[in-house]
Amino acid sequence: PDWASYTLGVFICLSCSGIHRNIPQVSKVKSVRLDAWDDAQVEFMTSRGNHVARAAFESEVPPFYYRPSASDCQLLREQWIRAKYERQEFTHPERQEPYSAGYREGFLWKRGRDNGQFLSRKFVLTEREGALKYFNRSDAKEPKAIMKIEHLNATFQPAKIGHPHGLQVTYLKDNSTRNIFVYHEDGKENPADPQGGRRGAEGPPDHPAMAAVGSQSGPWGGSLEAS
Ligand SMILES: [Zn+2]
Repeated sequence: PDWASYTLGVFICLSCSGIHRNIPQVSKVKSVRLDAWDDAQVEFMTSRGNHVARAAFESEVPPFYYRPSASDCQLLREQWIRAKYERQEFTHPERQEPYSAGYREGFLWKRGRDNGQFLSRKFVLTEREGALKYFNRSDAKEPKAIMKIEHLNATFQPAKIGHPHGLQVTYLKDNSTRNIFVYHEDGKENPADPQGGRRGAEGPPDHPAMAAVGSQSGPWGGSLEAS
């Protein structure tokens, strides 16, 4: 990347550098190649770098928090950058909003297997069980399906589902791949999208929140894209 925050000691892309410039109280940006660097700044960058900063600023990211990548819209990346550096939510868990309590429930419209009609279903996301579950009846004791987070992926499929917030959830059951198709109505909480409630109604459609779970890569992995 061509840009760096010399107060945080991280390298960032051009697009994220614009976001960092909006929080000058915590991040000051320079071009790696075009700006002048003094020895102390170079030394700080050398001692820091993205992997060290990640360890320092991401020690307590909630398991279901969506971790944006370079291809995500600016709004999602800004939310991440502000949470990480400005509010420092990931090192001060008491600043996190209640989604971090590890349990969410809400209603999603789910496409029926037989007739293709969408019906309202209760969904529960539990961190303790590491699972997303849904119930066919709101008073049902047993869930219709239990989807383990580690075997689950969600992709944003507005065209396929015919709704701007359409989500295809793919999971493993008995060693075979299953799909469910869901959407949630504007302004309602989506248990598959931990940050949904934090965005304004005019925000972008929901992103595949679950896709990020377990996607951490090497030291220069995701943090390079949204640091
Ligand atoms: Zn970036």
